[in-house]
Amino acid sequence: MRPPIRTRIAPSPTGFLHLGTARTALYSWAYARHFGGEFVLRIEDTDVARSTQDSVDQILASMRWLGLDYDEGPVYQMHRLARYGAVVDQLIAAGKAYRCYCSPQDLEAMKAAQEARGEKRRYDGTWRPAAGKVLPPVPQGVEPVIRFCNPPDGDVTWDDLVKGPITINNREIDDLIIMRADGVPTYNFAVVVDDWDMTISHVFRGDEHINNTPWQINIFNALGAPLPRFGHLPIILGDDGQKLSKRRGAVSVTAYEESGFLPEAMLNYLARLGWSHGDDELFSREQLINWFDGGHLSRSPAQWDPAKLAWVNAHYIKAAEPARLAQLVLPQLARLGITAEADTALAQRCALLKDRCATLVELADWLRMYYQPVQPSEADRALHLTETIKPAIAALAARLAECEWAAPAINQAIKATVAEYQIKMPQLAIPLRVLVCGRAQTPSVDAVLASFNRRSVLDRLQTS
Ligand code: GLU
Repeated sequence: MRPPIRTRIAPSPTGFLHLGTARTALYSWAYARHFGGEFVLRIEDTDVARSTQDSVDQILASMRWLGLDYDEGPVYQMHRLARYGAVVDQLIAAGKAYRCYCSPQDLEAMKAAQEARGEKRRYDGTWRPAAGKVLPPVPQGVEPVIRFCNPPDGDVTWDDLVKGPITINNREIDDLIIMRADGVPTYNFAVVVDDWDMTISHVFRGDEHINNTPWQINIFNALGAPLPRFGHLPIILGDDGQKLSKRRGAVSVTAYEESGFLPEAMLNYLARLGWSHGDDELFSREQLINWFDGGHLSRSPAQWDPAKLAWVNAHYIKAAEPARLAQLVLPQLARLGITAEADTALAQRCALLKDRCATLVELADWLRMYYQPVQPSEADRALHLTETIKPAIAALAARLAECEWAAPAINQAIKATVAEYQIKMPQLAIPLRVLVCGRAQTPSVDAVLASFNRRSVLDRLQTS
C-alpha cells in the first residue's frame, strides 16, 4: 500500500541540478518525510536531443550529496513510452484527443494569419473532430501528432499551496500537442500520466509552470484521475535582483560542492531561501523535517545571498568533526597540487583552523602552509620583521630547538624570550606568524607552532 502523501522531483537531464530544482526537491522531500510519505525521483528525459547520461549522473550525485534520499526511482520517462501510447489511445477512443496532420508550413500560415488579425497565436482546431464537422482529407505520408481536446471555455481553478487560488480561463489555452509524431509524449502529458500512475499527492515545482497547470488539470480530468495538490514556488533571484543564471555566477549544486560548501550548509541555506520557521536561521535536517508542513512558503522571489550562505557554511565548518573535515578537504588540497592523507595530524590542523574558514577552499588555503613554502608579503616583512626583533627571533629559535614540542612548552619559550628582550607579546608573535604561516593573523601562536613539526618551524625562523 502506498502512503497517502507522495511527492516527487522531476528534473530534465539537460544540465546540472539547478539550485532552484534542488530547492524544489528539498521541499518535496521534506514534505514527504514530515508526513511519513514517500518521495519519488523521476527523470524527464523526453527531450532526447538535449538529455544526457552525464547530466543524469550529475543530478543523482547532487541528490546524494544533499542527502535527498528517494523511496522510488529514478524512473525514466523514456522507459515508459508504451504506457503513454496506451493512454493516448484511450483518450482518442474516448474522443478526448485527436490526430492532427498540420505541417509546420500549415502552422506557420495559421500563425501569420492570426498575427495579421491581431489575435493571440493558438491552434485553430482544424483537425479537432466535432459532431457534423467534415475533417480535411488525411495527407499521404504524414505522421500525425496527437492533440488534446482542451475544453473550449470555462475556468480552471486550483488552490495553490504557495500562491493561493489561481484561475485561468480555457480560452487562454489551446489544444496542445500531447504526443509528437515519433511517439514521444510532450511534457504536459507525460507529467500527468506519471503523476497519476505514481499516485503523487503533492506537486511542488517552479512557478514557470503555472501556465502549464490548467492543461494538466484538464488532462487529469479527461482521464478521470484524481488531482494532486499543486504548489508553485517563486524563482530564486541572484544577488543583483535578476533571475539566477549561469552568466551571473554558479547555479548548480555541483559548483557549490566544488567551491567547498558542506551539504548540511547548502541544505539549511536552500531550505530557508523561500521558507521560514520563525526566526530560525540555522537548523538541522531533523528540525527541517519536523517543521516542514508546506506552510510558511514565501510567495515572492527569494534572493540569493552569497554572504549569508558563507556565514551558514562557516557555522557548519565550525561544528564539523575535524576528522570529517580532513577527509573533505583532500580534494581541495589536490587542486592546489597537494597530496595529503586524512590522518590525525591533518585532523588536528583542521581543528585548529576551522573557526577561521567559511569554505573548504579557505581551509585548504590555510593548510597549504604545512605542505608548501610560505611567501610572506613584502609589506608584512617590512612592518613586522624589524632589525630589532630579529635577535629575539634567533633567541626564541634556540629555545624552540630544545623545548618539549607541545603548545604549553612553546608558550613558555615565547614568554621567556619576550621577558628577555623586554618587548610586548605581539612584537614577537606577529613576526613569528608571518615567518611560519605567511600571514600576520592566525590562531593562537603557540598552538600554531605546535601544529608544525619542529624542523619546519626552525627552518622558517632563520631570518638571515
Ligand atoms: N521536467 C520539469 C522541469 O524540470 C518538471 C516540472 C514538474 O515538476 O512538473 O521543469
